Amino acid sequence: MAVLLPPWFQPAIDELLGRGLPAPADAMRAAAWRHDRPWSWCARCGSAACAGCQGGLAGAGREEDGPATVVRLGAHDGALRRWVIDVKHARWEAMGERLGALIGEQLLACGVVSRSDPRASLVPVPMPWLRAHARGIDHSAVLAAAASRATGACVVGALGQRLVGTQVDRAGRDSRVAPGEARARFIPRPRARRVLAGMHAVLVDDVRTTGATLAESARALRFLGAARVDAAVVSVAE
Ligand SMILES: [Zn+2]
Repeated sequence: MAVLLPPWFQPAIDELLGRGLPAPADAMRAAAWRHDRPWSWCARCGSAACAGCQGGLAGAGREEDGPATVVRLGAHDGALRRWVIDVKHARWEAMGERLGALIGEQLLACGVVSRSDPRASLVPVPMPWLRAHARGIDHSAVLAAAASRATGACVVGALGQRLVGTQVDRAGRDSRVAPGEARARFIPRPRARRVLAGMHAVLVDDVRTTGATLAESARALRFLGAARVDAAVVSVAE
């Protein structure tokens, strides 16, 4: 049944139903955007502008702490940057799912994960609970779920939320993620040890900025027994 609404009402309805955002495929076509060809970037830091990253991981701790390789869709600028922001701030879940599926395809194309590999797990990098709650979308979980459908690798929620304030110090001590480091932000979930021990874990997040978050997450996964840790992100700030 058609319902006639005053014209001023339609934008509010569109906003409510997420109709204000185009279909992801249309947005990608309109922007003439394509993801990068496999390994057209530095496998270590994910940057296409890398001038050799020996010792260059500023703020990320020791280099061996980070993921072994970084798989990406593109640089964090232009249309891709806007989409990443809109997935989070406009709760554009359809775009998150599309980008997650592309991450899965890129992991296969790069040979980091093979289809339905029983040893591979996708681990979303958690966001602080309060922020996920306020935004209404847990972007890395959306990305990882879509990448899982594309690859057949399962999603393992191995990392807990980051905590804030004094809890950080306590969490760092209790979890022993990073002995001697007061600022550990991730809480490894002990039950995940059973799933991850000896396995290949792939961290999934939207953006790699300094690499510090991925390095810290990778440390937590190694603490849980992962034999190899890689990372897959939508975009890399370079
Ligand atoms: Zn590099």
